[in-house]
Formats: sequence, C-alpha cells, structure tokens
Amino acid sequence: MEMDLHIHTNRYSGCSNLPPSGLLRKAREAGLGGIVLTEHGIRWSDDNLQELVEASGVEDLLVLAGQEVACYTKRGEFQGEFLLFGYPRSLGSSRSLETILELVHGEGGVVIAAHPFKKIVSSNGGGFYGAGFRVYDYNLDGLEVVHPSYDRESIALAEEAMRKRNLAGIGCSDAHDLRSVGLCRTVFPDPITDMEGLCDAVRARRVTARSLKAV
Ligand SMILES: [Zn+2]
Repeated sequence: MEMDLHIHTNRYSGCSNLPPSGLLRKAREAGLGGIVLTEHGIRWSDDNLQELVEASGVEDLLVLAGQEVACYTKRGEFQGEFLLFGYPRSLGSSRSLETILELVHGEGGVVIAAHPFKKIVSSNGGGFYGAGFRVYDYNLDGLEVVHPSYDRESIALAEEAMRKRNLAGIGCSDAHDLRSVGLCRTVFPDPITDMEGLCDAVRARRVTARSLKAV
C-alpha cells in the first residue's frame, strides 16, 4: 500500500495552492491508498476530516491527519521541520524539538524529520532547510529519504543517516499543489487502516520510500 504522508492544503497552510476539495480524487488517480494532511502547526480535527471525506465522494482512500511543525531552541535557533503522526492536538511551531519528542512519544506517536537535507543557499554559504545532521543527535523515528527537493547528494546523506541511526525512511511529496500529490510516496508492505497502524509500521521500520520524479 502506497501513501503520501506529507500534504499541505490551502485550508490551513497559507503557502499552499492545493484545494482540499480536489485532493482525494487526485490521490486516488495517482494510485495512492492513503494520504496524511500535514498542515503547518495545525492538525485537522477528526470532524472536519470526516466532512472532507464525505464531500469528496471518494470511498477507498485512507485519509488521516498529522501536522508539520518547525522547532526552535529556547535561544531561537532553528532545529528543523518535523512531521508528527499520532498526536491528537495542534502543536503550533514554536516549541523545541526536545519538547515535541516528549509530547508526541508520550501519546504513542512518531516524529519524522521533514526534508532534513533539503539544500538552501544562504549568504553565509550552504545549509539545509531541515534538521540536517541533527538527525544523528535526537531520538527520531524516521526521516524523509525521498523528497521532490532532493538532489542526489541529499538522497545519499538521508540514506546514510537512515542506515546509521536505524530510522524509518519515508518518501513524501510535500505537495502544495494538486499535480504534486503522490510524486514521492511511502510504501507499506502491510495494509494501513488507521493512524495507530501507521505509527506502528514506522516504529517497526516497515516502510520504504519511492519516487516517481527523476533526480
Ligand atoms: Zn511541508
């Protein structure tokens, strides 16, 4: 079963052009068995998610809510962006990674580094718009090893971290528009039916990443 675990809609993510109304049908057309909505700092309520599913008319697609948060140290240093699955409330984007790990693991959820090796060009040289090598320092559950922004070096760095830290390596589109949905995806050897099962599969590292995009 293939899922896209990282999608932003324009309902809650100001940076997104992706209308939730067309999303579910597009996901089915892309051959996905499930999707997770990961707005910035906001988790879709179960009621709103249910409404979205009913209004779409799409039945055979698993639709779940996670969230993506940016983390900062107490001194305001950026620690990266992280996908949170299995946490029931919105967490915003102002907490430290240490706090996020404690909260999410305390609820039985998982914390995954979003595009840790996505490159940015800054005035002081190169860097990553993501956790970068901090993925080696924290008790994370996984990281994106496949992402549309990655070049070959980013993929190699992510795969090396996955192996050395024994992390789950997931693939996600980070879609901000309809045509990107499913571009990169996560393959689950066993069917997933709910968020608990998804978190279990990540914890057991029973996932692989797949990209439909040429690098
Ligand atoms: Zn994102």
